Amino acid sequence: MLELAISMLKDYHLCDHCLGRQVALVGYGLSNNERGKILKDALVLELFEKAKQDKEAAMILQNIAEMGNILAKNSFEKILDKSSKHSLADGRSCHLCQGLFVRLDDIVKRIVAKLENEDYQSFLVGAKFAPEVIEREDDLRAKYKITTGESIKSEFTREIGKKIMILTEKEPDFHLPDITIVIDLVSQKTILQKRSLYLYGRYNKFIRTIPQTRWPCYDCKGIGCIKCDFTGKRYQVSIEELIAEPILKITGGIGSKFHGAGREDINALMLGNGRPFVLEIQEPKIRSINLKKVEKIVNRKTRGKVKISGLSFSNKRKVQEIKSLAKKTRKTYRALVELDETVSDEQLSQLEKEFRAKKIKQQTPRRVLHRRADLERPKTVHEVSVKRIKEMEIEAEILGEGGLYIKELISGDDGRTIPSFASILGCKANCKKLDVIYLHHTDD
Ligand SMILES: [Zn+2]
Ligand SMILES: [Zn+2]
Repeated sequence: MLELAISMLKDYHLCDHCLGRQVALVGYGLSNNERGKILKDALVLELFEKAKQDKEAAMILQNIAEMGNILAKNSFEKILDKSSKHSLADGRSCHLCQGLFVRLDDIVKRIVAKLENEDYQSFLVGAKFAPEVIEREDDLRAKYKITTGESIKSEFTREIGKKIMILTEKEPDFHLPDITIVIDLVSQKTILQKRSLYLYGRYNKFIRTIPQTRWPCYDCKGIGCIKCDFTGKRYQVSIEELIAEPILKITGGIGSKFHGAGREDINALMLGNGRPFVLEIQEPKIRSINLKKVEKIVNRKTRGKVKISGLSFSNKRKVQEIKSLAKKTRKTYRALVELDETVSDEQLSQLEKEFRAKKIKQQTPRRVLHRRADLERPKTVHEVSVKRIKEMEIEAEILGEGGLYIKELISGDDGRTIPSFASILGCKANCKKLDVIYLHHTDD
């Protein structure tokens, strides 16, 4: 190992970090700069006598001394007394890192100042190096056949991470850090990437005419025009905006995404236990929030329209989970149905009897054909119970499997849903009002 160090230091100035890093995989328990320093000290002791006569040994001693090694400096000056041919040069920088590791503390200081106003528990350090730096190290390793080295990037990010940990008392996290610190050594800029905050909860919707998510204006596609009063929106407010806006304000996030476990019709209420959702807050400034308080604030602002409950901290995986759960979730609907003929009580009880655990065929409704493939889907209607409201108006409670189209189950959609309320009652049937009154979650 001393041989290797001798041949490298004969040709190059290397700092303790960069020398030690070439033998990082030998033994355990020392940082690279400790390894580098030990190697250099050992070399100075080894070469001290020889350097008095031998030019090459003197040159190595000089190189080590010029990189700031005290033992080498003092020893070199002793030799210098006798032959005044050599003198120490100032301001030499390391061949590999060009002084990067000398600046570690400065770099860390700037990062810690940046982190001061952030709310986080864990972090991760990443770095972007200029390709020349990586190439210089590759060339050196090829030249001296070094197979025991660690990459400069991994040493650099680890050393920075250790120092940040000590100064901030926050934990490094390699999987889901709250903040990723990206040090770009090319542009000399450091960016903080903040992980999104995910909140899981359920919502109820108590008024009609608001969509679940922000709906861009058809005419201007969201840019703003006369038709939409320059809001860019087809509907002035959505469940998404009602819930997200107060939470964005509290967390100082720059944007949000709303993921519902399925959606109800724009004119349908969402009653009962509520529909699960995940709200993603992008780049939050504050993440340690009191969820009970947040729930109260949201509910005060959205009173009479929307109510949220059961807020909890969540993660990205939950988005997929609630989406796939929604497809399987059975739902109970309440529908107000208008008929074009008077039907008898017998006909109504016949309707209930027909739809007990009934398998039906449902061709994609015409009204959604523009966004869904035209397929015939088998669906199950578990239960229907009806009550007469007026002579030609009934209210039906329908328990159906996920993805069942209720409006078409009632109208028959010109024979695309078989059977239907209309086909069984033998008259026209039209869904006037539709609400979701319960979601039967398997996790309840
Ligand atoms: Zn170096
Ligand atoms: Zn518009």
